[in-house]
Amino acid sequence: MDSMTGRAASPGIAIGPAHTLAGPSFEPSAREQGSVEEEAAAFKGAVSSVETKIWDLHAQMKERVGDEEAAIFEAHAMFVSDPEIERIALEAVESGRSAPDAVTEAFDGFAAMLAALDDPYLAARATDLVDVRDQVLAELYGVAADPLPSDPFVLLAEDVTPSQTAAIDPALLLAIVCERGSEVAHAAILARSLGIPAVVGVGDGLQDVADGTVVAVDGRAGEVVIDPSPERLAEMEQRAAAEQERRRRLSEVAAGPAITQDGKRITVAANVNGPELLDAAVASGAEGSGLVRSEFLFLGRPTAPDLDEQEAIYRRHLEAFGDDLVVIRTLDIGADKPVPYIDRSDEPNPALGLRGLRLGLAMGELLETQLRALIRASTAGRLAMMFPMVSSVAEVHQVSAMIDEIAAAEGVDRSSFQVGTMIEVPAAALAADRIAAALDFLSLGTNDLLQYVFAADRQVAEVANVPDLFDPGMLRLIQFVAESAHANDAWLGVCGEAASDPLSAAALVAAGVDELSMSPVAVAEIKDRVRSWRVSELEAALAEALGGPDGAHARGVFEPFVSG
Ligand code: PEP
Ligand code: MG
Repeated sequence: MDSMTGRAASPGIAIGPAHTLAGPSFEPSAREQGSVEEEAAAFKGAVSSVETKIWDLHAQMKERVGDEEAAIFEAHAMFVSDPEIERIALEAVESGRSAPDAVTEAFDGFAAMLAALDDPYLAARATDLVDVRDQVLAELYGVAADPLPSDPFVLLAEDVTPSQTAAIDPALLLAIVCERGSEVAHAAILARSLGIPAVVGVGDGLQDVADGTVVAVDGRAGEVVIDPSPERLAEMEQRAAAEQERRRRLSEVAAGPAITQDGKRITVAANVNGPELLDAAVASGAEGSGLVRSEFLFLGRPTAPDLDEQEAIYRRHLEAFGDDLVVIRTLDIGADKPVPYIDRSDEPNPALGLRGLRLGLAMGELLETQLRALIRASTAGRLAMMFPMVSSVAEVHQVSAMIDEIAAAEGVDRSSFQVGTMIEVPAAALAADRIAAALDFLSLGTNDLLQYVFAADRQVAEVANVPDLFDPGMLRLIQFVAESAHANDAWLGVCGEAASDPLSAAALVAAGVDELSMSPVAVAEIKDRVRSWRVSELEAALAEALGGPDGAHARGVFEPFVSG
């Protein structure tokens, strides 16, 4: 028996026989290099045939799991036919390299660039590039994929690519365990949308597990037991039954509004981090989205999306949520999330640099195009647009003037959509009264607000415990933002991670927030909690927490709201 832990990528428990998915292996001597013309033709032929296969997979996945999950294959088709990758590969062929070497060089250059950015979303896109590269290489070498078992199995792999996942009949896939990968890798995303447990990042060691060995996977705890003892097996089976019961119970409470015992309605919405996550967000029972991170449209590509592409994707988000409000945040990038078409690489401290709305206002056209696309799309549903990294009321006035002008030019009634900003910079939190006066809503970005209030970089693991939402000073700031919003007829949401943590959510509702937006997997549980609370009791707890000595005391005060 061997126990491994990794990151919990998709909840659920499964027990079954292992099947290891070997990565593709290519034998360079199996292929003879031809003339420059022949190699160029081989490259183009392989690319075109992979592109056809990708579109076939896209059609299959659309049928199986829906449009949004299939969207990754649209991105793959874009990668395989990317003109920049083609140019680099053909140049390498011209200089005498074989087609496979040229493919490796061109794709790896891009993948390394993305992987180096220290951003899990972009690192996941690097895996996508490698997936596409291997498909082109397989085509050039004439290598076929390994046959899969015909009975249900637990898939073990170094990393599972979207095309490998798509090739597996979901009815046979009990769970996925990867040595590498992250929660935002597409294998994890697909696992979540298929409802299959997954644990990623368990580290080396899976290659030693023989096919057929019994493996137990707990995708909520991030635990994997290889060849469990009878006691361990019984314990995992018990956990599986409890998990099933929990799911059944939560699925029963996922629909409908979240109204506290004393009648306050809290909107429980889902954050959407990419179109492939849209279906899962809608299915979670979320009442709209409190944060669509539009970065996914802009990152990991050589040029910015144009007006039409943006409008189409925003429309898709608005249509998916029907009558519920969808808060689409404008581009939040800068040196922290670099893109090739905006060079901010020279900033010494990206978190404090030209990012978010600051960058948008400085670059003019990029923001203007996005605002126009949002305004054009606004007729498709209930749109709210939101700005990241706002630090002053002057920035709000500047962007509002742009919105007024574009709406007038597009013939769209300015009052047919909402406008708000994130409150994630301390200066904006302290100016919340004046900012709220100019807007329809505010949304607390607790991830950044905590890092800036406590001066603790969210990327630095050693200071991860420094910020504390329950610190009485922090709670006082949140309460001030809520009071400022309401005094100015604006509503207040929270779209940082704190919204999905029941204890933090209790404190946030106590402080007066109207909406909590979170990862779709947390929606049902938070609704369930909200329905058990009384605002009057939460407010009394907040008063006690604010009068107490520290964060630990404040946590203790809220603990009874989440126990049981
Ligand atoms: C936040 O800062 O809380 C937030 C939601 O934005 P992001 O995590 O994208 O910075
Ligand atoms: Mg933020």
